[in-house]
Amino acid sequence: MFEPKITDTVQGIVKTYINEGDTVIDATIGNGYDTVFLAEQVGINGQVYGFDIQDIAIRSTKEKLDERKLLNRVTLIKDSHECVKDHIKSSVKVAMFNLGYLPSGDKEIITKPESTIKAIKNMLDILEKNGLISIISYYGHEGGMIEKNEVNKYLGELNNKQYDVISIAYENRKMNAPIIYLVREK
Ligand code: SAH
Repeated sequence: MFEPKITDTVQGIVKTYINEGDTVIDATIGNGYDTVFLAEQVGINGQVYGFDIQDIAIRSTKEKLDERKLLNRVTLIKDSHECVKDHIKSSVKVAMFNLGYLPSGDKEIITKPESTIKAIKNMLDILEKNGLISIISYYGHEGGMIEKNEVNKYLGELNNKQYDVISIAYENRKMNAPIIYLVREK
């Protein structure tokens, strides 16, 4: 569960929340690794919705899914994740966020505090009981710290009767190492 790569650590945790047939969300497709992971977890009767605002992310992820014969259980949506309710009418078990920029892409295109908070809020509205939202906040880039602080503040103020919120942070790394937030609906 505690892996060398932060994304693997998060996947290890997220995995324990997903059952075959579940509906789940990759809120930031990026390079598509989480989309593939989620598609594998939900099985043939499950449904994954993936959001990204960049064509390149959608295209490369589509290829990855196609190669693995997983496309039929995934809907890739080119829209901002805050608009989740325009596209998904059911409840969801899990939503995964990877904030920041696409490492292989345009480093100017980043997730932004306002839309990130709205997206988290809207995902919480459709999250099932015992469902989980995972957020990896990468905040070394310009504007990243503001986003991290806003996410931190928003999550810190969630009603603890309804949600458990925890974070996992590196204690022995250089400044601005990514941090994991996990929100569980009780
Ligand atoms: N920083 C992470 C990867 C983040 S990828 C790492 O290093 O591994 C973040 C993805 O979110 C990018 O592909 C970007 O296009 C996408 N994105 C940015 N704003 C978005 C939005 N409003 N809605 C959906 N996706 C968004």
